[in-house]
Amino acid sequence: MTSVLVVEDEKKVSAFIQQGLQEIGYEVDIVDSPTLARPKLKEKKYDLLILDVMLPDMSGTDFAKELRSQSYTGFILMLTALSTTKDKIQGLDSGADDYLTKPFEFDELLARIRALIRRKGEDKAQLKNGELVMDLIARHVSRDGVKIELTTKEFSLLEFLMRHLDRVVDRNAIARQVWGTDFDPDSNVIDVYINHLRKKIDNPFPKKLLKTVVGQGYVLNKVE
Ligand code: CA
Repeated sequence: MTSVLVVEDEKKVSAFIQQGLQEIGYEVDIVDSPTLARPKLKEKKYDLLILDVMLPDMSGTDFAKELRSQSYTGFILMLTALSTTKDKIQGLDSGADDYLTKPFEFDELLARIRALIRRKGEDKAQLKNGELVMDLIARHVSRDGVKIELTTKEFSLLEFLMRHLDRVVDRNAIARQVWGTDFDPDSNVIDVYINHLRKKIDNPFPKKLLKTVVGQGYVLNKVE
């Protein structure tokens, strides 16, 4: 799952980004200053930082420089209200991978993010298990060349299982990764989703990959 930290003091902007990215299955945290971003970045490895330039305690440009000097290797996408060439060059010189001028459309933001991920290499963009293929950028799934339609949660669940092939994952791990912290451990929602997923990725095909390990969890078998 792609994890994103948004550093932006305009609550309307950060909420707009968070909602849009969460809807397509990204994991998004928000802070409103570099001061609050630092402990977050120590706690967790983010794939992408969306960084506003005009921030209360220090500029996004200086913060990007600081992070790069500490060898932060994730992507940095700058948000700027300034659109002169000088500002853009300054932003990129500070270690940002790309910048977006405010106001922007959500689709434009998404296109930039996808371009960054794509730039990093196609190998990260696809997960394969035999003929079961997940394209993490286009968010397509297919098996034996047949396209499979998944909901956002089903997609995240399958991605988690694909990243742990042949390993039994328990319900707690799935809940944490796919549903986050506000998950009710007594609900049967995981079992329901596993069943949905099984119907789509296994039932139409002769070889069954998704197994239940009674009392332990679930495993997606690796295709030899
Ligand atoms: Ca700002």
